[in-house]
Amino acid sequence: MSTPSPANTAATATSAAPETVKPSNFLRQIIEHDLEKGTYATRRWAGTPGDAAHHAQGEPDPAKIRTRFPPEPNGYLHVGHAKSICINFGLARDYGGVCHLRFDDTNPEKEDTEYVNSIIDAVKWLGFDWNGAPDAAPYQASDYFDFMYRAAEYLIEAGHAYVDEQTAEQMRVNRGDFSKPGVDSPFRSRTPAENLRIFREMKDGQHEDGSMVLRAKIDMASPNINMRDPAIYRIRRATHHNTGDTWCIYPMYTYAHPIEDALEQITHSLCTLEFEDQRPFYDWLLERLTEGNLLASPPPRQYEFARLNLTYVITSKRKLAQLVYDHKVSGWDDPRMPTIVGLRRRGYTPAAIQTFAERIGVTKSDSWIDYSTLEGCLREDLELKAHRGMAVLNPVKLVLTNWDDVMGAGHLEPCSLPALPHPPEGTESPVRHFTIGKEVWIEREDFEEVPPKGYKRLFPGNKVRLKGGYVIECTGANKDADGNITEVLATVVPDTKSGTPGADSVKVKAAITWVGVADGVNAEVRMYDRLFLDAHPDAGGKDFIESLNPNSLKVVTAIVEPSLANAQPDDKFQFERHGYFVADRIDHKAGKPVFNLAVGLKDSWGK
Ligand code: ATP
Ligand code: MG
Repeated sequence: MSTPSPANTAATATSAAPETVKPSNFLRQIIEHDLEKGTYATRRWAGTPGDAAHHAQGEPDPAKIRTRFPPEPNGYLHVGHAKSICINFGLARDYGGVCHLRFDDTNPEKEDTEYVNSIIDAVKWLGFDWNGAPDAAPYQASDYFDFMYRAAEYLIEAGHAYVDEQTAEQMRVNRGDFSKPGVDSPFRSRTPAENLRIFREMKDGQHEDGSMVLRAKIDMASPNINMRDPAIYRIRRATHHNTGDTWCIYPMYTYAHPIEDALEQITHSLCTLEFEDQRPFYDWLLERLTEGNLLASPPPRQYEFARLNLTYVITSKRKLAQLVYDHKVSGWDDPRMPTIVGLRRRGYTPAAIQTFAERIGVTKSDSWIDYSTLEGCLREDLELKAHRGMAVLNPVKLVLTNWDDVMGAGHLEPCSLPALPHPPEGTESPVRHFTIGKEVWIEREDFEEVPPKGYKRLFPGNKVRLKGGYVIECTGANKDADGNITEVLATVVPDTKSGTPGADSVKVKAAITWVGVADGVNAEVRMYDRLFLDAHPDAGGKDFIESLNPNSLKVVTAIVEPSLANAQPDDKFQFERHGYFVADRIDHKAGKPVFNLAVGLKDSWGK
């Protein structure tokens, strides 16, 4: 499989300039068309979700459109969900609508309040409010169980549903396949009265788990297998986190979801392509329930878009859970995880993720987005915002042998540099302060005893500038018994301090980063790389564990300038020449700085 650069992007080719005009896409066109035609103009909204009678008492809906983000609270959200969040909340925002946050908690077994809270945090962090008011309570699909049950009784009475007592295996065989029409169940011709009686018995706990299901009565010969009398209720004795033991029958997802949308007066129900085959049932069900006046008209419509596939990334909750439970990563918020909590801890910003969602666009065909597109969005956001600072990641000591003579023994000279090279117009950059003395830390790679061709940094006889400090001239190095460099030696050229009139008196070809021994602070720096070596770690059923990158985390002890050591958790910086780093939100403490590499300065992906 190839990894094309994002093919389905309307805006990828444009420069880094902020996109003021949003590129159109098929969803925007549908919404604009509906607004123009007034498709939903007659809708009423009673302030809370409800049936047709409930909304009939309401006001004309102040929301021009209603979208929803309906996660199942069975895991942490990932970058694919972020796409869906940005689409649903973004469209509602752009068209005077409201987006609902709804927990799709109809499956009693898998839900957990830990996940509920993490989803609320993630949506909030991305910058969105739901249900029309800041901090409104999210909706819960399980609050609609009563209505779903009532709707099922209605379908039975109208002859649109029946209780089937075939075994699961018989049902599977009788469903047929793509080349073979299905066979009617022997229970299909039961009368509505009989179906109603047995369905009520199911609800009252008089039948065993799995002994029977309620099925919609549609067409066993339909070319769409989803229309061959899909199951809509099953018996399952399980305690639900919201409704406890009230129910021992639970609606199937395909039945519950359209009803949830309709009760909430959703206009545009946006989902990923795998639900395309479910749309005929979605429409069938809502037609039945609106013609029975149970649900308000016009019903919501479903539209499908391509899910996000990102190279080097897995976006399946189940597989992400495996990485966590098998301790391949430190947790859901490990900075290598594509979860929203992981991205956040890695140093991603809501703005970067929103830009990403816009840039990749919305299409109806599956494709792979290059990981570098995501990184580019972060770089763009941090370029102008992140304070600069110097950090030495692979330190060796540099001794200025004439310092005491020319500057005074033990002297520390104050230096400063702007934190922002391009402060916002009309503002001045904050200033970073640090000192230089006889000893400073430099990067090991900035000294070569025998310089390769074109090398401009330190080698005996060469002059460079210590950035924001002085020009120095290299005189050599001290070594240990094995020949390893222990100290680089140089002399300071007096009167060349940056920002003084003498600064330009000596020309140099390079300026190198450094940190003073006197005021530099040790910091743990976590250098992250991609978690997988394979661009498509789980494609074609591959075992993604096999392509885990053994070097996806390297921890180094760096020395950072004082302005970095004073960072607050979550503060982002550009470590000059190294990349963008974030003070770790969990482990970074005053006096014990910990930084994560968020993204390098240049795109080095795949190189
Ligand atoms: P997973 O397969 O990881 O378990 P899911 O689809 O089961 O994800 P839900 O909680 O049901 O997760 O998803 C909530 C919403 O997010 C759905 O509308 C779903 O279509 C959307 N979504 C999930 N994964 C992606 C993705 N990779 N790209 C875009 N949207 C996604
Ligand atoms: Mg799902």
